[in-house]
Amino acid sequence: MKTNLNQLSKEELILFLQSLGQKPYRVNQIINWIYKKNTTSFDDMTDLSKDFRERLQTAAFISNPVLLKREVSKDGTQKFLFELEDGETIESVLIPNNRGDDCFTLCISSQVGCASGCKFCMTGRLGLKRNLKAHEIVDQVIAVKRFISQISEIPGMLSLKPEGKTDKITNIVFMGMGEPFNNFNEVSHALSILTELVGFSKRSITVSTSGIVPSIYKLAEINPVANLAISLNATTDEIRNRIMPINKKYPLKKLIKACREFPLPPTRRITFEYVLLGEINDTREDAQRLVNLLIGIKSKVNLIPFNPFFNSSEFKQPTESKTQEFQNLLKKAGLTVIIRKSMGADISAACGQLKATYQVIK
Ligand code: SAH
Ligand code: SF4
Repeated sequence: MKTNLNQLSKEELILFLQSLGQKPYRVNQIINWIYKKNTTSFDDMTDLSKDFRERLQTAAFISNPVLLKREVSKDGTQKFLFELEDGETIESVLIPNNRGDDCFTLCISSQVGCASGCKFCMTGRLGLKRNLKAHEIVDQVIAVKRFISQISEIPGMLSLKPEGKTDKITNIVFMGMGEPFNNFNEVSHALSILTELVGFSKRSITVSTSGIVPSIYKLAEINPVANLAISLNATTDEIRNRIMPINKKYPLKKLIKACREFPLPPTRRITFEYVLLGEINDTREDAQRLVNLLIGIKSKVNLIPFNPFFNSSEFKQPTESKTQEFQNLLKKAGLTVIIRKSMGADISAACGQLKATYQVIK
């Protein structure tokens, strides 16, 4: 069976190359081709001898998900629908940083579907189909990088010059489909490939969780640690149990304790995401309880007004004034808080709207 080079760590790649009779230093050439030049074909690796390329061809391959569909939102957000080897589909979302620098944050998926079942989330309604392998997580990044490098202009977007293109993705967030901490080993392997081989710094990567407490402690052991984001979304167990069933297993007290104990590097903070659901968790009392919960934690709060999707009528978007009032109350208490704009909502690419369905139009 051929070896997929994209699932190997640097050490494993060296061993593999040695098994083909190559010197360890060759590993840097391979890494450069796969992760910097985003190539999928050994034929393109022109600085390797013909004989070596032929041996690679026989013994290995470079995985590459099929891009089934790409949609571009009017705000410049792009949604990529990928097909995996077994026919399952996942989505990744490329979001402009809007800092005038023509750079992006890439939101990636860690599972096909999700078992956590948060009531306000489209992905949660799908249930879990399967975990992604580490290479399927990393391949989303490489495939989008490759896509960016192959085009010089995207309709309706800033022009993307071919040079310097691989640096266009400045941040990676595990906020696509799935609960990364229910797939900890593969996510952690993907984190090492992304940092050691693709070249992202740990501080440019954020892992977002609905609160799988044991995995928060496990993430803390990976050093230096990636950024942690917690989807808090409620300030009492009663409300959280109702909208996030995972809270019954890991209630607020345990979750907040794990956050307090998380070993944050000096200049970093934990991000707390709070989906504002009209008349459910958007009151002044909620804001006050949120302030109390976060006392003593180096934090920043992202308020995300609920993004509706098909069949989500049990939830309402918060009113503009409620959203503003909620933010002001947190700010007054000294918290850093932003209202996260729902980028890509017109193409169902905003938080909680991912479902990765593909209809063949006949
Ligand atoms: N499973 C992980 C990461 C993916 S969800 C987690 O839950 O953290 C990414 C973010 O989208 C989470 O903060 C989640 O609370 C938010 N979200 C889910 N559904 C949403 C919706 N319909 N509207 C707005 N935000 C939503
Ligand atoms: Fe899963 Fe996150 Fe959606 Fe909850 S919010 S169902 S954990 S993807």
